[in-house]
Amino acid sequence: MAAAFGLGLGLAWNAGLLGGGAVAEAAETAVVREEAARRAEHLAFTEAYLAHSAREFRVGSGETLAGLLTRAGASRAETNAALASLTDVYDPRRLRPGQPVSLYFSDAQLTGVAFRSEPGATVTANRTTAGEFAAREVEMPLTFEIARIAAQVETSLYSTALAKGATDREIGALADAFSYDVDFQRDVQPGDQFELVFERYYDDEGNTVRTGDLLFVSLETRQGPRNFYSFMAPGDTRPDWYDADGKSARRFLMKTPINGARLSSGFGMRRHPILGYSRMHRGTDFAAPTGTPILAAGEGTVVRAGPFSSFGNYVRIRHANGYETAYAHLSRFARGVRAGTRVRQGQIIGYVGTTGRSTGPHLHYEVLRRGQQINPINLRVANGRNLTGRSLELFEIERQRIDTLRQVRASETPAQQAALRVTRGDGGR
Ligand SMILES: [Zn+2]
Repeated sequence: MAAAFGLGLGLAWNAGLLGGGAVAEAAETAVVREEAARRAEHLAFTEAYLAHSAREFRVGSGETLAGLLTRAGASRAETNAALASLTDVYDPRRLRPGQPVSLYFSDAQLTGVAFRSEPGATVTANRTTAGEFAAREVEMPLTFEIARIAAQVETSLYSTALAKGATDREIGALADAFSYDVDFQRDVQPGDQFELVFERYYDDEGNTVRTGDLLFVSLETRQGPRNFYSFMAPGDTRPDWYDADGKSARRFLMKTPINGARLSSGFGMRRHPILGYSRMHRGTDFAAPTGTPILAAGEGTVVRAGPFSSFGNYVRIRHANGYETAYAHLSRFARGVRAGTRVRQGQIIGYVGTTGRSTGPHLHYEVLRRGQQINPINLRVANGRNLTGRSLELFEIERQRIDTLRQVRASETPAQQAALRVTRGDGGR
């Protein structure tokens, strides 16, 4: 295992030197030159250490790196020299118990130390010809792929997507795309299907190191399947979500005016904490931890922001065409939110709490039309742009590209997919 770790390090760098397709990103000339020097140096070291013996140790509970080196048989002078160089690039106190550390010896003399500092990076300290140690943190070559996750919701959408290798970023983006017509606390149930297609970079151990653009999201609930494609229309500054016909996912008002990614039906209150779902209760309650951001469901003007009887801290926003939305039991208001403030759709207006008549942290959300509460489920007024002309033509090309990627991914054999195994590091860095 120790030898494999050391060898893997060398081979990975060789692959990089031969232009093995890793991290295909444009680099500045100076960086390229520096890289070449580093690789040459590292290659020399690789040659040298392959002749040496490599042994793997694991950090003991409460053990320091100095303690580990001593335990492995390094002299006090070697330990001090190695640590002195390492502390320039890494704080050894960040090593966790159980973490593997590879040590290299030649004739009982310590010649090298290597360990993974974080997913996608390794710290090495090598003995120089002068007898000192030189340490550096090296980025491991990353592999890029278009990842596709298609799965059935198990306990919650969030935990299932995480387990399948998505990060908070992708799950949050899916929740954003569907926030206009899905009630994430009641509409999404175990057994529902979802799909995510996104760019992923992973290291040689299969850890997701970071993710790139999210290309496609799909959710199939009892209401039926819905697919959205990411597309940046000419003149726009950021991509937006469109269905297969080029119609925007955006609607006049959101159905889930809160980050829905972490909401789960299991966690939610099916009944109002005080009143139950009586005929009088026309609002929607979202159980969520105190401090969860609450979003303006649509563009409008704040007409009220302050304590309001049993509603506790309360915000009411006036939108176009006689519509209003109300948000109750907030722990606090977002900065600058007061009567008269203009708000954008999706802007944070306050945070979940349990003020007023409430037994636990939740958002009470109401949609009103001409002063009467209405069920947000009846609100399907599209608001976003529908692509036309040249934009629609460009969208068609992008949609076909994404669908092709999905088909290619979906047609892979289970063995090929297993090769793309995902063990979660702290992804989405
Ligand atoms: Zn309520």
